[in-house]
Amino acid sequence: MRDDSCIFCKIANGDIPSKEIYEDEDFKVILDLGPATKGHALILPKNHYRSLYELPDELASKVMLLAKKMSVQMTEKLECDGFNLVQNNGEAAGQTVFHFHLHLIPRYEEDGQVLGWKALQPTSEELSEVRRLLVE
Ligand code: 5GP
Ligand code: ZN
Repeated sequence: MRDDSCIFCKIANGDIPSKEIYEDEDFKVILDLGPATKGHALILPKNHYRSLYELPDELASKVMLLAKKMSVQMTEKLECDGFNLVQNNGEAAGQTVFHFHLHLIPRYEEDGQVLGWKALQPTSEELSEVRRLLVE
């Protein structure tokens, strides 16, 4: 379940060194090399899944439990003021490494980072049309 050409497979399985902060049988958590803030880390499954679409349900459940545990511990240790979980799927969504990963981003008052989007202003009819697409 590894892809020989994937850098995160190599990191998650110890073939390339990383600043690791947690490991269990399914995941490795490492510091991001290009952090948004102090402590920015990535949860990587040891097996290769390109994105959330391929991630098995069992690992999807486990990854959120681990994210919660890491967020609590990191917040205590780093004394950060808030926390973002970010997870990109597909180039259009900003994914650059095609091995599933969940960003753990500690936030600090006035850290100067902006994670967000420009809010659209849909009409009620437009929202209804989207809802129809999703539920019908
Ligand atoms: P994405 O844009 O795919 O959601 O995020 C990829 C993340 O991986 C980026 O934040 C980038 O800084 C990080 N990254 C890319 N290559 C490496 C690497 O070799 N080691 C580590 N620790 N982080 C990496
Ligand atoms: Zn991989």
